[in-house]
Order: sequence, then structure tokens, then C-alpha cells
Amino acid sequence: MREFESRALRVLAGVTAVCVALFAVGAAGGWFPPAPVTWVLIMVAHGLSVLVCARTAVAGGLDPYARRFWRTASLGLAVMAGGLGLRLVTAVTGADLTSTAQIIHGAGALTMLWAVARLPVATRGGRSRIALWLDLAITMTASAIFLWHTAALEAVRDPAALATTVVMMGVGLIVVFLVAKLILAGSESLPRGVLHMFACACLVGGVGTAAGIALGDHSGLEPLLMVIPGAGLAIAIAARRQLPAPGGATATAGPPRQFSLLPYVAVAAVDGLLLHVVATDGRNALVVAIFAVLLTALVVYRQVNAFRDNEALKERFRLIAQNSSDIVTITDRDHNVKYLSPATLRVLGRHPDDLLGTQLRTFLHRDDLPLVQAAAVAVFTDPTSTATYQARFRHADGTWIWLEVVLSNLLDQPSVAGIVGNARDITQVRETQDRLSHDATHDALTGLANRVLFGQRVAENTRAPFPDHRFTVVLIDLDEFKLVNDTLGHAAGDALLVAVAERMLASVRPSDLVARLGGDEFAILFENLGGTDVTRVLDRIADQLRLPVEVDDQLLAVRASYGVAEGVSGDDAGDLLRRADVAMYEAKARGEGGHQRYEPGMDTQRAERARLNSTLQSALAGDEFVLHYQPVVSLPDGVPVGVEALLRWQHPQRGLLGPHEFLAAAEQNGLIVPLGRWVLREACRQAASWPASIASIAVNVSARQLHEGDFVAEVAAALHDHGLAASRLTLEITESTAVDPGRTRHGLEQLRALGVRIALDDFGTEASTLSVLATCPVDQIKLDRSFMPVPRPDAIARAVVQLADAMGLEAVAEGVETEEQRRRIIDLGYRRAQGYLFGRPVPAAELTAMLAVSPR
Ligand code: C2E
Ligand code: CA
Ligand code: CA
Repeated sequence: MREFESRALRVLAGVTAVCVALFAVGAAGGWFPPAPVTWVLIMVAHGLSVLVCARTAVAGGLDPYARRFWRTASLGLAVMAGGLGLRLVTAVTGADLTSTAQIIHGAGALTMLWAVARLPVATRGGRSRIALWLDLAITMTASAIFLWHTAALEAVRDPAALATTVVMMGVGLIVVFLVAKLILAGSESLPRGVLHMFACACLVGGVGTAAGIALGDHSGLEPLLMVIPGAGLAIAIAARRQLPAPGGATATAGPPRQFSLLPYVAVAAVDGLLLHVVATDGRNALVVAIFAVLLTALVVYRQVNAFRDNEALKERFRLIAQNSSDIVTITDRDHNVKYLSPATLRVLGRHPDDLLGTQLRTFLHRDDLPLVQAAAVAVFTDPTSTATYQARFRHADGTWIWLEVVLSNLLDQPSVAGIVGNARDITQVRETQDRLSHDATHDALTGLANRVLFGQRVAENTRAPFPDHRFTVVLIDLDEFKLVNDTLGHAAGDALLVAVAERMLASVRPSDLVARLGGDEFAILFENLGGTDVTRVLDRIADQLRLPVEVDDQLLAVRASYGVAEGVSGDDAGDLLRRADVAMYEAKARGEGGHQRYEPGMDTQRAERARLNSTLQSALAGDEFVLHYQPVVSLPDGVPVGVEALLRWQHPQRGLLGPHEFLAAAEQNGLIVPLGRWVLREACRQAASWPASIASIAVNVSARQLHEGDFVAEVAAALHDHGLAASRLTLEITESTAVDPGRTRHGLEQLRALGVRIALDDFGTEASTLSVLATCPVDQIKLDRSFMPVPRPDAIARAVVQLADAMGLEAVAEGVETEEQRRRIIDLGYRRAQGYLFGRPVPAAELTAMLAVSPR
């Protein structure tokens, strides 16, 4: 693009040189070209400048004002071209179209004037805008007096030329206005070089035109021969400067100039004129003197204005520095404080004057010193750079204030000669940030690390740079926590979790990371610890958790399962967590709490369990479950008075499976609910066929069954459908099922209202024994077989039967295997018992046969 403009400019410069040379030769009295040649040359030069201008007007990358300016200017030049064309016609044909041509030419010139006038001045504040208009007024006034003085002399010499003189004055003033505006006002759209070139063009055009008018027609020597190519060349240069540079960067406008010599030159010139007038003939002296005084007044006014402006500016900066919440510091080469703004008192509680000559690093937090030193070195070594740091400084009251400091090197600036620091108090921002990042990595309930942070720390350990770095990951799951949540409510569950967290924290080293991964899942990361050292800590935690926690007036003991996986640097973090998880499930599946170390092969066992889950579903659908029945006898005679229904799975490949093989899985995946429903209906159906001597049929019920769906209605329906009297059905629940004083109690009362009996199974194995008895409506308690006397001491067996007697409940001793045990429990006072001694669990048909032969 610029390529074309450059070529056009070279041609234009050549044509202009030829024109000027011809004019010079002609003016010196030599040969001058015939009129048509003159006008052709002028037309060529003018045409080239129109072309360059128009191309700039349509070029990309201009802002809207620049584009408007160049469009209007191109239009003005094009109109002028029309005027020049008419002159060419006049020269060739002899028809006199000169006046029309001049009018058209004038219209073009006015369009150009319009373009300049409309160009917005560079933005500046109110006072300096006034200064701009004053400068313009001063320049215009000075020019006016010059023009007037010349014209007045002319008018005296030749009154007939008055009209010409007035026109010349008008043209002159317009030119001065254009030049002054372009130079003084500046523009954000046009670079200064462009403005100056355009001003040149105005000057050449204006002065040339005036000269032409003054000289009149000198038989063929046309002044426009010099003026049009000269002004056109200047405009074309301006137009090309406006275009983006070859690199693509747009020519940018400089900042507006606040100060120009132009008005002072004008005043000096008028003063010179005054001296000249006074020294020569004294004519016009009064008028010139008045103008000189007027101008001086304008200049004084302008100066006062500028001075005030300056003062206001200084005051504004002083107020900003004084009232700014930021601290501004200036320190010298040796870091000694030269200046501190008053905000120091507000932010750091220290008076600026007390700190002059001291070093700020005395209040700096030790941990932040390296950062601050690095920033200082950076600004010292590269004077053009700035450096930013955030550091803590001690407030006079001893607290730490976070400051964000921006340093700049102004050592080379004589008015400052120091390192300038701008410090902003960001304490609150930092605190919020710290809190947010804490929240993002910690559990809100317990304050422990969360899964994110735990994962990060495990990953860090796997990346430890020393090859023999060892660590241990332990995943912990609370046993039957869901039950606590379901029965006591979430608030109680939360309280329990908090207590668990506290006890875990109290049992580990400060360097160990305890985390809550979610729900009732916890985890601990032990760095540089493994083997029995870890299991000792886990035993300590288990002991701590066993101590009952008081929640909602209930004493709850917590049992947990722990999965342990040891890692070394280089392990895969995900793998490690999975291994700990597998081990944890293994521990959980044993159903008695405690820890399990990961061993290869566990994964397959786990996969097997997953398979079990799905086969259980089809087993229920495929009628693979059966009930066995174990007699409950009265003592001392040993006559069966009831049975307990016990679930078995007739597995197609593995044979008959007991509940411990599948019950935990069914509890976990919820299948226990439909399975238990089946057990209830099957037991009722079977019991209805037995003689009334079998007074009771006991069915085991799990907590989930009791809480999910409408259990009471199901029981009522089962009794009704099979015609079994409610009084013959006993539902066995465990203590942990009974702990909820509200929900469970209500359900149990409804069941009892039906006439069904409730038994508390496995009595004595859980911590809440006594409180459960106090709140739960039961009819029978079944002493867990682990308390069977002989060879064990009989204290608990004795206490339970006494307790039952005192509360009017029936006591059943479970797990009687020997004659000796039978005698012992009879001695202790038990009137009901169950055990292999009296009969193992057997299919219904066998039991029916057994009943037929058993002693009555
Ligand atoms: P449980 O309710 O305490 O049932 C008594 C368990 O003790 C039975 O084990 C029984 O076979 C066993 N047992 C009876 N007498 C003796 C004895 O003299 N010596 C020994 N060592 N054991 C004896 P089983 O059938 O394996 O059942 C285990 C547990 O599974 C039951 O304990 C009960 O909690 C649960 N269970 C069984 N059937 C069901 C059911 O249909 N629903 C639910 N929710 N749980 C059931
Ligand atoms: Ca039972
Ligand atoms: Ca039992």
C-alpha cells in the first residue's frame, strides 16, 4: 500500500520541482511556458495529491475521526480540481471562465477548512482547554494587527485596492487560524507529523493565493504554478504519514502539547511592530500600542491561569498522597527511608517521622525476607522495571499486616532520586484467600483434612525424591454408622463423627494426617511409619473409640474397620488408595471391626463379593432360599415350646450356606428387605401347620427391614394371610436396632398392639444394654451364647436372668451344647433355652417329625 504512495510522492516531488524551476525562470524575466502547459502541469500535480489523499481516506486502520478528516480533505481537493479544470479550459479555448473557476476553487478551500475545523482537539482538562483558546486568540489577534497594519498602509497608497486588501486579510486570517489550530490544538487521531505537514500546506496555499491576488495578472506567469504543486506535495506527504507503517503499526498521535512558543512569538512580533511603528512615522502607533497592551493582558491572564492550574495540580497530588490508604515510600540506594506518606500511621500504627532514616526490613516477617530482597535486586539491576511482592509487616500493636508493594526505580529522576514503593494493605484479602483455600481442603464438620488434601498428600509421598521413603495409608470405615444416623438422627450422627475425629487426632503424632473422606469414612496417612508401629496406633484408636460417647443422652460405642496399605516412593497413589480400600472391605466383611493389612489376592476376593451381590438377587428370584427351624425348649423338662426360623441358602454349586456367608452382603445392598419379607411369610405359613403346643415361632428381623417400607402392615398381612394368631409370632431384633428411642419404639409398640411379641436377641454383646431395656418395649431377652456359663464365669448370665425377672421379661439362654451347661442355667433360674443339645436347626419336615417323637 505504502509502496504506491511512495511512488506517487516521488513523481509529485519531481513535478513540483519542475513547476518551481519554471516559475523561478519566468519570474526572473526569462521564458515561461504557454498557459495550457502551465495548467496541465498544475492539474497533474494536483491530481496526484488528490489520489494519495483519497487512498488514505479509504485505507484500513484509521479511527473514525481521521477517516472523516481525510474524506473531507479529499472532497475539498477534488472540488478544487474542478476549478483548476475550468482554468485549463479557459487557457485552451479562450472562453473566460476564470470567475467561476475561482468560486469553485474557493469552495474547495472552504471544504478543506471545514475538515480542519471539525477535527476534535486532543483531550485535556478544563483549564488547559481555556489556555488553548487563549493561545489561539493571542495568535489570531497578533496576526490581525499585522494584517491590518499592512492593509491600512496599502489603503492609503491605493484606495482602489481596498476590496482586494479585505479579501487578502480574510484569506490571511483563515490561514493563521488553520495553522494555529493544527499546531496548538493537536489531535488524538492525527500524529503530530501529519498535522505539521498539513499546516505547511495551508501556509503555502494561503500565502500563495494572497501573493497571487496581490500580484494580479502578470501576463501569463501564474503563481498557482508554484502554490498548487507545493501545497499538494505537503498534503500528500501528510496523507502518507497517516498510513500504518509497513510493520503494521498504526501511526499514533502523541500526547497533546501543553506548551507552545507560538503565542509568545506572536506577542514579541507585535512588540517589534510597535517599536518599528514608533521609530518610523508614528502612523498607526496608537492602534498597534492598544493591541500590544491587549495582547500582553491576554498573555498575563493565560500565565496566571496556568500558574493556578499548576498549584491546583500540586495540591491535588498532595491531598491524594495524604489521604490515600496506600503507603508511599521513597528509599535511597542503601534502603534507608527518605519519605513515608501519612498512611503509614493508619496502616502500620507507626508515625512516618519516626521511621525516617531507618530500614523497613526491621518490621518485615522473617519468612518474607528472601522475597523482598529478590524484588529489590530486580528493580536495582533493571532501572526500567517494576517489581511486586506481598509480605507481612509488623503493626505497632504486634499483629502482622499483609502489604502488596510495587517498587519502581526512580533513582535517575532528580526530583525523587530513590526507589519508590507503593504499598497496599491486603490483609483482609489474604485472610479470605487463606480461609478459602483452607475450606477447599478441609472438612467443615470435623475440621480434618478432606479427600482432596489427603489425595494430594498421598501423591506427594509417592513422588518423594528419596527411593526408600515409606509411608502407610489407612482407610477407616465406622461400623453401623448408618444405623446411628437413621435411628438417632443426623445431629447425633454429626456429634458422633466429631467425637471420632477428636479421638483419632488425639491418638496420632502431630505429623500424621487424619482426614475425613466423606460420610463415616476416615483416613490416616502415616509418613515414615509402617508395620507394627502403625497397628499399635490403630489399636490405640480402636481403644479410644470403644469408650462410650455421650450423644443425645445415649452412650454410644463406636467400632471401626481399618484397611492398611503400605507404600514407597514411586508407587501409584491411586493404586495405593485402592489397596487400602480393598483391605478395609475385607476387615469390614469380617464384621467385628479391627484392621486388615492389604495382601495380594484380596482383589479377587472382593470381586467375588461383588459377584455374590448379583447372584443373591437371582437366588431370591429362583427360590434358592430355605428356612431351617431350631427348637426352643422349656426348662427343666426340655419340651419344645417354640422354634426359631433361621435362613439358609441352597446354593446350586456350593451346597447349603449359613447366614454368615451372605447376610452381610444382603444387608449392605438392601436385598435383606425383600428377603426378610419372604422369611416372615414362609415362617408364618409353616408355623400355621404346627400344633398349638409350639406356642411361638421366632423370626429374626434386621434394622433395615424395620425402617424401610411399612413393616407393621406386612406383619399384619402375613399373619392374616396364613391364619396365624399374632400371639404365636415373636420378632427378634438386636440391641443396635433398638437404640432409637423414637422411631423404633413407635414401630415396636404398633407390633405389640397387634399381639406380636418382641425379643431382644444376642443380649449383652453391645454397649447400650441397660438404656435399651429402659426405653424399648420388649417381652423377651435372649442371652447371647458367648455368655453361656461353663467353662466361663456365670456373672453375666446370672445378672441377665435376675434383670429379666425384675422387669417381668422372659429370659432365653442361647447356645446350650452340654448337659453341664443345661444344669447350670437351670440353677441360675432360666426357664427357656435353645441349643444343639436340644436340637440343631433343621428343615421343616424334620422338625415336624422331631415334634412328633419329642417327649411331652
Ligand atoms: P441368631 O439369631 O443368634 O441365631 C442363633 C444362631 O446360633 C444360629 O446360627 C444357630 O444355628 C446358632 N446356634 C444355635 N444353637 C447353637 C449352639 O448350641 N452352639 C452354637 N455354636 N451355635 C448355635 P445361624 O443359623 O448361622 O444364624 C446366624 C445369625 O444369622 C443369627 O443369629 C441371626 O442373627 C442371623 N439370621 C439367621 N436367619 C436370619 C433371618 O432370616 N433374618 C435375619 N435378619 N437374620 C437371620
Ligand atoms: Ca435369633
Ligand atoms: Ca442370638
